[in-house]
Amino acid sequence: MSIKNKIMLITYADSFGKNLKEAGEILNKHFKGIVEGVHILPFYPSSSDRGFAPLTYKEVDKNFGDWNDIDQIGENFYLMYDFMINHISKSSEYFQDFKQNKDKSPYADLFIRYKKFWPSGEPSEKDIDLIYKRKPKAPCIDVDFSDGTSEKVWCTFDEEQIDLNIYSDVTKQLIKDFLVYLCKRKVSIVRLDAFAYATKRPGTNCFFIEKDVWELLDFVKSILNPYGVELLPEIHEHYSIQMKLAEKGYWVYDFALPMILLYTLYSGSNKRINNWLKICPRKQFTTLDTHDGIGVVDVADLLTEEEIHETKKNLFSKGANVKKIYNTMAYNNLDVYQVNCTYYSALGNNDRSYLLARAIQFFTPGIPQVYYVGLLAGENDIKLLEETKVGRNINRHYYSKEEIETNLQRPVLKRLFKLMKFRNSYEAFDGDLFINEDCAISNIELTWKKDEFNTTLSANLNTHEYKITYYDISTGRFEELKEI
Ligand code: BGC
Repeated sequence: MSIKNKIMLITYADSFGKNLKEAGEILNKHFKGIVEGVHILPFYPSSSDRGFAPLTYKEVDKNFGDWNDIDQIGENFYLMYDFMINHISKSSEYFQDFKQNKDKSPYADLFIRYKKFWPSGEPSEKDIDLIYKRKPKAPCIDVDFSDGTSEKVWCTFDEEQIDLNIYSDVTKQLIKDFLVYLCKRKVSIVRLDAFAYATKRPGTNCFFIEKDVWELLDFVKSILNPYGVELLPEIHEHYSIQMKLAEKGYWVYDFALPMILLYTLYSGSNKRINNWLKICPRKQFTTLDTHDGIGVVDVADLLTEEEIHETKKNLFSKGANVKKIYNTMAYNNLDVYQVNCTYYSALGNNDRSYLLARAIQFFTPGIPQVYYVGLLAGENDIKLLEETKVGRNINRHYYSKEEIETNLQRPVLKRLFKLMKFRNSYEAFDGDLFINEDCAISNIELTWKKDEFNTTLSANLNTHEYKITYYDISTGRFEELKEI
């Protein structure tokens, strides 16, 4: 099934119902026409980070179900799978073999050994300072080999996620083998997780090294192409990087929209959002929420430093149940560049503001992604956060089937689903966007047109009241989209 310009759900395999089978049942029973694609977050056996430390790509974690369950979902929804090109699990057979057999292991070149990587065997303080890091220390772990020796090996994320040496033949072969396996399954697009960390050269910041990055993406693309599978490289960085990727024809994520929209809805000004809608890449997936936090680095220079500061301040004062401390080391917060909060709670658990945010997202160029917690207008899960002390868990509630069904009765969800069905079915969204830049600063007016199809979202950014009108070809008149 190919990608459609229709809303994609993002979900864990065990959080939208208890496993993949339940997720499939729920989707088929309640969400047909509301979502048309599903990004199933990593469902492979993994040793940490909710699936992002995979042992292999050839199996489905038994706790979630099996390939049949995924195929079932793929019958009615186009699918996105993750590929962690930067790392593999410490518990994988490959790393274990390396630990056991060291230089004699066929996988010795799969990993980045400090003694081989750094010209003098160790990075200097200057080298370490230069690296684009996720933790305030050199990105490595000490590996104890079975022969009693020990060595440092590159490790960007947590200790279970060992970086791959993408420059070696053995890694390239393994990447190819895994990707070809995935391409033969029901998949329309592969999300290339954290790919910018995979390029590394001494004397650089070891992040998004140009030339290497383009070669890496070309390599992956050349594997996926013959199977008609597309590629979505994932990176949280300055928007100019997303622009570069888009210029080269890659799909990109719109990680700037979440903060710009919060700024817009807190401040009541259309200035920043209109600018972004004008310049943002067209071939993109839009987000308001994902399994990670709300991106902050992503809006540098799209909002001023002051506006970013103001937005974060407002998030803590106007948002519901969200505190600064949830974004610190006290909550194991890896995402120093992101804020942890559900989008619904960021808008004070206010139905009207939330629906307007989603309406603007659906009128933004690109394919909208809606995270499962957002699909259910979920509030911050403080209980899970406190039990685990993992900042991102504030937005990772586990929904049972019954809980989802109870939620479906909420008026906010009925309104949201009506909006989503409209976004998925009205043809104007395959046309062009027109922004009315003459309207008052506290209003927004966005129109999509294709042939005779024509729809406009107009909203007051202070009161958060909004209206959607559309040309109804059956009556030959402009109608207002009823809320329910
Ligand atoms: C994913 C994170 C994950 C990291 C390492 C990311 O960008 O979205 O959830 O922790 O990559 O795999």
